[in-house]
Formats: sequence, C-alpha cells, structure tokens
Amino acid sequence: MKRIVFATGNLHKLQELNQIAGNCGIEFVLPPKNFNPIENGKTFEENSYIKASEAARLSGMTALADDSGLCVEVLNGAPGIYSARYAETQQKKIDKLLNELKEQTNRKAKFVCAMTLVSPDGKIIFQTTGECYGIITEKQAGTNGFGYDPIFRPDGFDINIAEMSDEEKNAISHRGNALRKVLEFLKNSQ
Ligand code: IMP
Repeated sequence: MKRIVFATGNLHKLQELNQIAGNCGIEFVLPPKNFNPIENGKTFEENSYIKASEAARLSGMTALADDSGLCVEVLNGAPGIYSARYAETQQKKIDKLLNELKEQTNRKAKFVCAMTLVSPDGKIIFQTTGECYGIITEKQAGTNGFGYDPIFRPDGFDINIAEMSDEEKNAISHRGNALRKVLEFLKNSQ
C-alpha cells in the first residue's frame, strides 16, 4: 500500500478521497498537525501547489493537495478561490449567494477542483483539474455533503448534490473527476 499525504485539515475531504480511491493500493493520510499553509495564490492551481509543497516539506513524503471552489457565471466566476471565505458560516455563504442571484435567470455555475501532486522535495509531479457543471437552485435542499452542496444541482439531475449519496456525488464531482486523473497518472507511472 502506497501512502500519500493529502494536504488538508478537512477530515470529510480525506474520507471522500479514500472512498474514491477505493482499493487501488493507495492510502491518503493527513499531514502533520502543524500543517498550516498560507493560501495566497491567485488561482486554484497555485493554491493547491502551496498546500502540497508545504505538506511534503513537513512530512518528507509525496503529497497531494486540492484547491476547490464554486464559480458562478453571472458573477464572473465568484466566489471562486474565495469560496471558503465568502461569509462567516456555511449558511451565511449560501444565503449571500442566493441573495446575489435573486431575480437572475442565468444561474449557471461550476465546481472546480485543482489537484497538485508533489515529490518529497516539493517538485510538481502532476497537476490537473476537475469540473462539475450545473446551476444554483433558488432554494436549498438536502443535508448531505458540505459547503454549497444544498444549492448546487448538477446538469442532467433533478436533485441537488446535498440530496445525493456519497457514491453518487463522488461519481460526478469536481474532486472525483480530478482525483480519477491523478490515480490514472499514478497507475501508469508505477
Ligand atoms: P478548499 O478547497 O478547502 O479551499 O475549499 C473551498 C471551499 O469551496 C469550501 O470551503 C466550500 O465552501 C467550497 N467547496 C469546495 N468543494 C465543495 C464541494 O464538493 N461541495 C460544496 N462546496 C464545496
């Protein structure tokens, strides 16, 4: 079993990753407790590199990081890389976004996830992105998942992500799509 540090403090994301990786021979583990990167990049890619290189430096292991967020078309891609800092609590973030989109007919949005895999000495081994396209619904629905899941309805579905099971979400999510490309890369480079 190959162990790779996943640069996050979010246990939910770590579990999601290990669920998607299934039994492919890779286990993702948390970084050391003092992992506290300064996410001051201007893009999802830059921020994922900052997190991955910091986790590799602290652990001395190969590290993977993601940086993700929600981009709303009519808001020129906002909240984007500021998705986590858009408002104080998750409910306030949802309320703020629904308010911004009040009376908007264009409700197109996408979740984006950039992933960067770095070697123990901090060099980029592989970088990729995954996306999930959909719309922001007018009302929130569902209690599963996290973040903006209650107001995001993926294209081709008549339920929101927060109404899906973990398996259903992972099969179509931005993080799932990015991670499958990383796993494919790792499989081919063994
Ligand atoms: P980060 O990648 O940990 O910096 O997360 C960015 C923010 O984007 C999170 O705090 C959530 O608000 C939002 N986000 C990222 N991925 C998802 C998802 O799968 N569902 C809902 N919200 C998400």
